[in-house]
Amino acid sequence: MAETTQATNHNNVLLEVNDLKMHFPIRKGFVRHVVGHIRAVDGVTFAIKSGETLSLVGESGCGKTTTGRCILRAYDPTTGQILYRRPDGEVVDLAALDRNALKPYRREIRTIFQDPYSSLNPRMNVLDIVGEPLRVNEGLTGRALEDRVAVLLRQCGLRAEYMHRYPHAFSGGERQRIGIARALALNPRLVVCDEGVSALDVSVRAQILNLLQDLQEQYKLTYLFIAHDLSVVEYISDRVAVMYVGKLVELAETEELYVNPKHPYTEALLSAVPKPDPRLSSRGQGIILEGDVADPSHPPSGCYFHPRCRYTQERCSQETPALRDTGAGHFVACHYAEQLTLRGAVARI
Ligand code: SF4
Repeated sequence: MAETTQATNHNNVLLEVNDLKMHFPIRKGFVRHVVGHIRAVDGVTFAIKSGETLSLVGESGCGKTTTGRCILRAYDPTTGQILYRRPDGEVVDLAALDRNALKPYRREIRTIFQDPYSSLNPRMNVLDIVGEPLRVNEGLTGRALEDRVAVLLRQCGLRAEYMHRYPHAFSGGERQRIGIARALALNPRLVVCDEGVSALDVSVRAQILNLLQDLQEQYKLTYLFIAHDLSVVEYISDRVAVMYVGKLVELAETEELYVNPKHPYTEALLSAVPKPDPRLSSRGQGIILEGDVADPSHPPSGCYFHPRCRYTQERCSQETPALRDTGAGHFVACHYAEQLTLRGAVARI
């Protein structure tokens, strides 16, 4: 069971992930013996409050997307709980449900995919793409379906007349708007946005982020935002959780994490965020992390980050630091979080 939880007010928590693990077996030989496991997610615990945006960040391969897929139950987690609070207050462990029992929750938890080019079926027009969940789940057809799709497209900044066009006729930003309209079709409560703006140009990215914020306000949506770009995360998140090799290493309110990071890995990620004013870059150079990201099938002993950490001490290679609250909901997994003075991001102007 998890050592700690970030849930400050349980009635306000929409989703609570407790000690989630997703270990993929490595098979070898003619009879496909299991010779090891890739610990893609290795004991992750966090909570998402209703109406907030929590971002999961970290380098590629850190387990953030796998965590999102476990919540969506695209994967069956190895162990752990995914506690989801229904509108009537009942709490259900999604990790324990079978495929049939999960069906009602698939309406309430939807996803926006990373790549607006490959996530839309090129043989379906926009009416079919956005309308499919409505047809399958609510039995809508004909004029009623077209009317609902028209409303969804307008809400996402697209013209209703476009519904008979095919994906190839749209730009990347417009395709992502179609993906968002599809995700919203069934009035979800939680939206997992997996690198939803990473494939877009910077200017289009800002438009889509604004749209997501407007929709959140309008529909009281809760977002789990998965990204590697910390500048995007800063703009949209209420809180940010940093992952490294399948584990959460830091979680805090956005401003607190950016100004006052307490984990050396977060400090390194923040040092790579582009500065808004070149004159401010003199305040600090980027931190170059030595070595590669640890292999999740053979993680190092103790703190997984210790081979790359510039503050490492003897204890770090022997004892695994637990994620603990250092005050005001700032969670850190580092033995020396209180002693280290780390550099945050340069203040925005
Ligand atoms: Fe670095 Fe040690 Fe903290 Fe790990 S526990 S982040 S190695 S100082």
